[in-house]
Amino acid sequence: MKKQLSCQELVKSYLDKIKKDDGKIHAFLEVWSDEVMAKAKKVDAKIAKKEKIGLLEGILIALKDNLLYKNHLASSGSKILEKYIASYSATAVKKLEDVGAIFIGRTNMDEFAMGSSTENSAYGPTKNPRDLSQVTGGSSGGSAAAVTAKMCVAALGSDTGGSIRQPAAFCGAVGLKPTYSAVSRYGLMAMSSSLDQIGPLANTVEDAEIIFNAIKGRDAKDATSSVIARSEATKQSRFRNDKIKIGIPKEYFVSGLDPQIKQNILATVAKLEKDGAEVKKISLPHTDYALAAYYLIMPAEVSSNLARFDGVKYGLSSRGKAKNLLEMYNQTRANGFGAEAKRRIILGTFALSAGYYDAYYKKARQTQEIIKQDFVKTFKDVDYLITPTTPTTAFKLGERTDDPLTMYLSDIFTVSVNLAGLPAISIPNGLINGLPVGLQIISRPFEENNLFELGKIIETTHYLNKKPRRLPAFTRRLIIATLGRFFALCPNSWPAINCSAN
Ligand code: GLN
Repeated sequence: MKKQLSCQELVKSYLDKIKKDDGKIHAFLEVWSDEVMAKAKKVDAKIAKKEKIGLLEGILIALKDNLLYKNHLASSGSKILEKYIASYSATAVKKLEDVGAIFIGRTNMDEFAMGSSTENSAYGPTKNPRDLSQVTGGSSGGSAAAVTAKMCVAALGSDTGGSIRQPAAFCGAVGLKPTYSAVSRYGLMAMSSSLDQIGPLANTVEDAEIIFNAIKGRDAKDATSSVIARSEATKQSRFRNDKIKIGIPKEYFVSGLDPQIKQNILATVAKLEKDGAEVKKISLPHTDYALAAYYLIMPAEVSSNLARFDGVKYGLSSRGKAKNLLEMYNQTRANGFGAEAKRRIILGTFALSAGYYDAYYKKARQTQEIIKQDFVKTFKDVDYLITPTTPTTAFKLGERTDDPLTMYLSDIFTVSVNLAGLPAISIPNGLINGLPVGLQIISRPFEENNLFELGKIIETTHYLNKKPRRLPAFTRRLIIATLGRFFALCPNSWPAINCSAN
């Protein structure tokens, strides 16, 4: 007979896991233990009284440190915001809270989400739970590690050029970068506002789907957010109706890609073809320019967004120590920002400066449009694109810290998706030398549902060679209470949420 767990017992098992393992991994910058236990107690009381419970009641979710959660610290991995306390909650956070989720803590990240290894955090790197000598990827490395080390059920991250998908790939998590505008950015600390998106990291596609569905949608507080038509959410499956068409872009299978990853991804594609998918070789001819365009647009927006951290309004300040206002700005920023943040502020300021704007920033925006058009044309012929998420598996800690260009190359297969505003998901696709491989699926705007559908198929055969585990009894009990309501909206959604207590 299976043991029934109370919410408090379940939560305690996660807190114990953090206590046991996070000293080595350093996924969390802060764990809200007391608060979390108090909330679990309330959940148990609600259940005992047979009160109505939310869709994610008692489910432990971790928050990347650049997401605001009212009355809690949020530092964006930076010294400049070391003591900053959020005065409101991000819309995505609020939406999860409204359906009963419990936030377990804030996760480590590259400072202001600039980086590909979580080594740019002012609070030290996070280590890959699969192999502590390897990086987690970044910038949402803390979230990816917390999820795959089973220190929470799922986590929120942000993705500007790959920061959800790349660490998901390196750690063996599922990571979704939603269509630009699908999730409100209100309360996400802005890095590059035209590219940033909040999304879930989880242990199964289904978990990521549930969280995405809970956080998506129009928000009056973010003018760029979209109404996602209900028809999108309930759209008929392609799988049941037509033969699916998958495009394999030749520019993503070039030299520089680890041959074993190439083989791994193409083996999955071959399996899908055998199972009835139509597979086409296609070309996205302007892919080569994506990284250059990204590394102009993103720093340009960074230089403007980070101007607000000047010692006056937020966090660290040299007030009282500096002789005048200018010196106060300079000292605060010199002491508060790390090397990568400074590098990008300088790069971005240069790219936007008079005389250089047309040659750099404007050209990058024009290039972005051409890259977008490549995808528009391609999606007339195919429904999905499949690529590797990253050119290599996780690399060693410290290996790329002195070489920013090599570090930037980690994003080569992810940045185009952000430039084109498309949704993409990284799915674990087995291991190479003990390290996870990420398979990226890209689709048309607002077709996240199709990503989940194909993702689930791939996951069942390749999910680190293991099937997702069953729900523990406690969560099943919670679900039963919400089944009627939920299944009416969204059949087949719940069963795989992986909140294993061990
Ligand atoms: N690694 C990329 C960068 O450093 C992506 C960051 C992100 O998506 N936030 O810009």
